[in-house]
Amino acid sequence: MRRSRRQIVEYVGLLAGSLVVALVASWTALGDQIDKDAYDVIFRMYRPPDWEAQSILLAIDEESYRVTDGKLRVAVAEGLERIAPFAPKAVAIDVILADRLDERDNERLAAAMRKTPNVVLVTPLLAKGWEDPLPIFRAAAAGVGHPYAEPDPVSREVLLEKIWGRDRRWALALETYRLSVSKPVIETETEVQVGDVVTPSRVLRIRYRPPDRPVPKVTLAELRGDPKLAQRFAGKTVFIGVTAQSAYDRVQTPYSPVPMPGVEIHANIFETIANRLFLVTAPMLATVAFCLALVAMAGVAFAFRSGRQSYLISAVVVMIALAAPYVAFARGTVLSFTAPVFSAWFSVAAAAAYHYFVVRKRMLTAEGDKSRYQQAMHFVTHEMRTPLTAIQGSSELMGRYALTEEKRKQMAQLINSESKRLGKMIEIFLSVERLSAGQLELKKEQFSGMDLMSGCVERVRPLAERKQIQIRIDGGPDAALLGDRELMEYAFYNLLTNAVKYSPSSTDVTVFTVRDGERIRIAVKDQGIGMDQKEVRKIFQKFYRTKKAEESGEAGTGIGLSIVEQIVTQHGGSIEVTSSPGQGSCFTLVLPTQKVNSMVESK
Ligand code: ADP
Repeated sequence: MRRSRRQIVEYVGLLAGSLVVALVASWTALGDQIDKDAYDVIFRMYRPPDWEAQSILLAIDEESYRVTDGKLRVAVAEGLERIAPFAPKAVAIDVILADRLDERDNERLAAAMRKTPNVVLVTPLLAKGWEDPLPIFRAAAAGVGHPYAEPDPVSREVLLEKIWGRDRRWALALETYRLSVSKPVIETETEVQVGDVVTPSRVLRIRYRPPDRPVPKVTLAELRGDPKLAQRFAGKTVFIGVTAQSAYDRVQTPYSPVPMPGVEIHANIFETIANRLFLVTAPMLATVAFCLALVAMAGVAFAFRSGRQSYLISAVVVMIALAAPYVAFARGTVLSFTAPVFSAWFSVAAAAAYHYFVVRKRMLTAEGDKSRYQQAMHFVTHEMRTPLTAIQGSSELMGRYALTEEKRKQMAQLINSESKRLGKMIEIFLSVERLSAGQLELKKEQFSGMDLMSGCVERVRPLAERKQIQIRIDGGPDAALLGDRELMEYAFYNLLTNAVKYSPSSTDVTVFTVRDGERIRIAVKDQGIGMDQKEVRKIFQKFYRTKKAEESGEAGTGIGLSIVEQIVTQHGGSIEVTSSPGQGSCFTLVLPTQKVNSMVESK
């Protein structure tokens, strides 16, 4: 398949456009929502390699509440008292301890905290700032952290730091991790480093443990029932919090629409950090480059392959786009879902549509070429037969018989004039065909309409005289026409010969012009056989002749008027016919003019 430069530019432009549209669409709110949903689906589809949990939950569930008379601080104190002897690495308490409440309970809890290593307390951010735990608790704890994961409503990320005024708090899980490894937090502009763990950014995607292998959990009630369970806390980082169904502190995770207690989310954040299970966002440039590659593949599929193959390749392109986010996720990179998928779909659709229309256009052109060829053949067989027969006959006679000098001259003249006629016919036919195929520019010469008319009338006169038909030029304004004089002559001459051919003898043919605004109307009116409205509609078709015309005995092929129409339309004009059977016809050329001159007198 060969393509023009313009087509290539168009095609590449179209593909580039579909890439831009795809990228913009993926950045809209809808694209963002689809990306999030796709992220959750991939999250559920992908099974991370198992890892041993470094944290454990000490859960205060309904039963634990019941056994501690609904006193949360007592429950936490008892939990600490039971696990402290087994030396957990650090203990995060996800319970707000800012209110006074019962002094004795507070004393007991603070005492338990002092016996526990690396206690971290939670500090909520209120309108007036951080709400710190009571001093008695703060003094007994090693650190504080904020409790906020980002729910939207699905909790996928956590802000590692949160700032109020100049007072910044790390996320509870990060603070707990820092204390559990007893390393300081080192910050760079984008990263946060604790020991040899370097987070990729300050907004961290939470890598939840799969639902069938959650962070281990022991409830206080269970611990009470079986104190030996406290061994499970040895060397682990503990997250103490409320898991009772009635607690408001629950958020959705990508794994399930069933909300997860906040304390478990903190433990999952901790697991993400402690095990360096970071999910990094694919760089923008890489995403765009990947989309560009998909678009290029779709473009190439349709440019160099045909039919089935291009659709097969497109299917592969779409599959790659669909699979890429999963494959990237499995390698710890979060790739936009919509950007590649939209890019693949849009570019395939655009390339397929373009391909379809271009191929269709080519097919139509090929069909046009074929029908033009057929017409040419018809033309040759119909119209050229007469002069050819005359030439053949005359030349044969000349060769075969000894003719008088005069006869020979006559025949030579006939051959000459008929072959000239043939030449002219071919020329006109070819130019009209090339004009309508757009392969030829119309000549632009200026000539007088009146000259054209009278020239043609003079040429037709001998033919008319044989039938005693009078041709009259009835006057009207002259006009300067612009175009190909020879073609226009052919058109007008055709109307005149038709008028003479299809009129009985001793009738009149009248030629006149009428001004029509910026246009001029050149009319040929006869008193001939005429035709009905149905026939009028058909006479411009190639090879159509009316029944009456056939019966008239006048030679004809039915192609003349179709050529006339083409010539006139190429000149920006039109042709009108009024006719009635037995009464006569009037053929009018309506042509644009350069300028209209004064009236010409009647002849
Ligand atoms: P041809 O004259 O070779 O048949 P044309 O294309 O010039 O072909 O005309 C097509 C047909 O239109 C004619 O055969 C005839 O039936 C009809 N026609 C054209 N001009 C006239 C006219 N002046 N009066 C009656 N019929 C006409």
